[in-house]
Amino acid sequence: MSLLPIKVYGEEVLREKSVNIENLDGEAVEFLENLRQTMVLAKGLGLAANQVGKTVRAFAIDLSQFDVLAEPKVIINPEIMEIGGDIVTAEEGCLSFPGLYQNIERSDKVTIKSINLDGKEYLFEASGLVARVIQHEIDHLDGVLFIDKLTPAQRTLIKRKLTRIKAGERV
Ligand code: ZN
Repeated sequence: MSLLPIKVYGEEVLREKSVNIENLDGEAVEFLENLRQTMVLAKGLGLAANQVGKTVRAFAIDLSQFDVLAEPKVIINPEIMEIGGDIVTAEEGCLSFPGLYQNIERSDKVTIKSINLDGKEYLFEASGLVARVIQHEIDHLDGVLFIDKLTPAQRTLIKRKLTRIKAGERV
């Protein structure tokens, strides 16, 4: 296992659109395991592949604390099938923005289609915080960051913090 360095805001790769993993070979599986372990050690709720510099459509998610599944897992080639429920505002952070927490609006429910490590398709229905994390991570795969969801007023308030994050500081 090797830990992967997490890219912070300002690095181009965070703005790139990722592509599906076509071949789940040993190398891909090893990368996904490293991604998962990196998230766990960084104490994140989620970590997308491009946050460690690889533009493939996969992310790690820690579901353990929501009692949904027993342990952190990786979601591969996710696709949103359905999104809805109430629009809920809650505080979000991101491992690529150390120390920054902002209120973000998200849908309360999401159903995704994904594949497991054997390449088998499955549907996953989530609500609440899990649905929030999934939307945040899928945004990453499209090069979208949580700060893109802020109101102009919120953005103005964090301008200096963003400059500091770009400079490698924790805010
Ligand atoms: Zn993030």
